[in-house]
Amino acid sequence: GWIRYAERVLTNLVTSHICTAKSPQQIMGSLVKGYFARQQNLSPDKIFHVIVAPCYDKKLEALREDFYTALYNSQEVDCVLTSGEIVQIMEQKNVSMKDVTAVAVDSLFDEMKEGDVVRHDGKRSDGYLEHIFKHAAKELFGMDVKEITYKALKNKDFQEVTLEKDGETVLRFAAAYGFRNIQNMVLKLKKGKFLYHFVEVLACPGGCLNGKGQAQTEDGKPDKALLNQMEEVYAAIPVRLPETNMHVQKMYQDWLEGMDSKKAQETLHTKYSVVNQTASNLDI
Ligand code: SF4
Repeated sequence: GWIRYAERVLTNLVTSHICTAKSPQQIMGSLVKGYFARQQNLSPDKIFHVIVAPCYDKKLEALREDFYTALYNSQEVDCVLTSGEIVQIMEQKNVSMKDVTAVAVDSLFDEMKEGDVVRHDGKRSDGYLEHIFKHAAKELFGMDVKEITYKALKNKDFQEVTLEKDGETVLRFAAAYGFRNIQNMVLKLKKGKFLYHFVEVLACPGGCLNGKGQAQTEDGKPDKALLNQMEEVYAAIPVRLPETNMHVQKMYQDWLEGMDSKKAQETLHTKYSVVNQTASNLDI
């Protein structure tokens, strides 16, 4: 939602500053149609790749031109179903979770066991800010940041994180979730008053757990008890930095031809197109 809004309304004054790394959904698409296809000796169009996502916008994302390979007539992601749609399908088929049998998680790596599942920093769909903040603190200022402290500004979905060194603020990052905060951010940008080195933007207040495609209660509201349960399950998974994960390292070596290779750039990054480039479109 945020990317389409930036491309259609905010123009390249904003899109030129957006990180070009693909979303997790599309990185997975590259992995499945690239790494996994090669591992299985299959052409990408012989694989049908389904993603379960928290919102309907992920369906539009999967259809973006940049994620289509003409050579194989294949999208990186062939079908996106929301978690709410999965529940609907199960209801239509009269299938209850109590009736289904648990099976082992499939893995791209033979030696990976279910207990090896790890997560990144952050509590939910956030985490980019935390990872980049710690990395920047180490690389730029030689400081090891173990825990970061968010300071809520106008509301809990607009927060700031700073790094102080010798009495000076050397890093200033922000998290802006939900369109109300995104619009405030853009207004400040326009006035030259949004002085952050990095901003983590998520279109939904609270992040993806509150996505419009998530399972809801019978009266059509987010199922808070279920969401809390998901947060607890997620928090219990151990954190592992991606750069210390041997599977990630192996993929960079075997598949992407190194960390800074042309192939890594082409496979893991995307570009943004601007629909209308008039500066007045910054008016919101
Ligand atoms: S923040 Fe909301 S719109 Fe963005 S990917 Fe998550 S659920 Fe979808």
